[in-house]
Amino acid sequence: MSSVVIIGAGHAGTQVAVSLREMGFEGKIQLIADEPHLPYQKPPLSKGFLNGKQTVENLLFRNEKFYDDNQIELVLGEEIVAIDVENKIVKAESDKSIPYDTLVLATGARNRKLSIETKCEVLYLRDLTDAQRLKSALENAQNIAIIGGGFIGLEVAASAAEAGKNVTVIEAQDRLMARVLPPVLSEIFLTRHQEMGVKVLLNTKLSSEELSAFDLIVVGIGVLPNQELAAAAGLECHNGIVVNEYQMTSNSVIYAIGDCANHFNVFADKRCRLESVQNAVDQAKIAASHILGNAIPYHAVPWFWTNQYDLKLQMAGINTDYDNYAFRGDLGANRFSIFYYKNEKIVAADSLNRPADHLAARKLLQAGATLSKEQVQDINFKLTDVLN
Ligand code: FAD
Repeated sequence: MSSVVIIGAGHAGTQVAVSLREMGFEGKIQLIADEPHLPYQKPPLSKGFLNGKQTVENLLFRNEKFYDDNQIELVLGEEIVAIDVENKIVKAESDKSIPYDTLVLATGARNRKLSIETKCEVLYLRDLTDAQRLKSALENAQNIAIIGGGFIGLEVAASAAEAGKNVTVIEAQDRLMARVLPPVLSEIFLTRHQEMGVKVLLNTKLSSEELSAFDLIVVGIGVLPNQELAAAAGLECHNGIVVNEYQMTSNSVIYAIGDCANHFNVFADKRCRLESVQNAVDQAKIAASHILGNAIPYHAVPWFWTNQYDLKLQMAGINTDYDNYAFRGDLGANRFSIFYYKNEKIVAADSLNRPADHLAARKLLQAGATLSKEQVQDINFKLTDVLN
């Protein structure tokens, strides 16, 4: 009977274990995590968990019984430090050696660090332990600086502002979430944060001395892929662990999925790493299928979301390369979508407080459907009608 060893029990690692069982795999599955917690969801860490609406129990994917019932052996609190590809063994920090027939690397990413010499506490947010620390630090701090106006920094800013804290967001670029959003959306989020009392400093980098005036600093300046284990084992790595369309690495019995995997994305039309739950879950399913002999290339529409105050933004496709766009809905009421075009084909859609548009966009992108700008703009036109 063959065995699958999975390193990392985040969204990707846990999903591949679950999918293998659902797809009928009868061999041994070991899901190894360096974190001590039962596998849990990360997105609420900067949203519902931080603002107290969700507890640790709400974050868990499954309870312990599920893993027992499905014979998924959870190995928690165990860091894997080396892969011996010749003998097909992974080595843990505790000196334990674990043999595999198939290995799945779902090691995710870690925060980029900033070197700041300051007297006040500096925190990052990536995992549950970070979130628990941040939650209690936020309770005791009043003046909070957030370095980085990206998704995570702004979600933390929103939670802290709603809790009545004095929040300052410090962003080096000239607008918020500039890497992924068009100016019109950056502006709407800026206004909303300012209305909630958040001070937003754009084009700004503060000195260590200036930062020392705050009680707490939270840094959210992006992540780096956890690829060192793979690189040391001789697997091809370049901004992540390089995989083919079936999530297979340069070693045919080793797969990589989720935030750590550098793949060719058909919607981006280039190699990239995506950092989203969608990508982690869908790549896990592709890897599980391939392990079971079913070769289905990865072709899932990328999607992502962020919630800040009453603004729920949902993104489908990749909006970084477009030559035209059309609006749908009511801009003044913060309830609209932007459909992006390249060579007259829709390549992405951002929907602000219009969840039905987002769901339609995902279907249209998956089908490669054609939709005119007039159809997008006509609020009475049902977008999915073009699929019929
Ligand atoms: P991870 O979830 O990072 O899991 C990897 C796991 O592997 C970790 O537990 C790590 O500790 C473990 N590991 C690494 N190396 C080893 C080793 N050597 N031995 C053992 N274990 C190891 N995405 C969205 O789509 N929408 C959102 O709103 C959203 N919000 C987010 C908010 C926060 C605060 C964070 C941190 C992320 C958010 N994301 C969101 C991103 C999303 O959570 C990630 O894309 C997703 O978690 C990736 O899953 P993964 O399994 O690839 O990696």
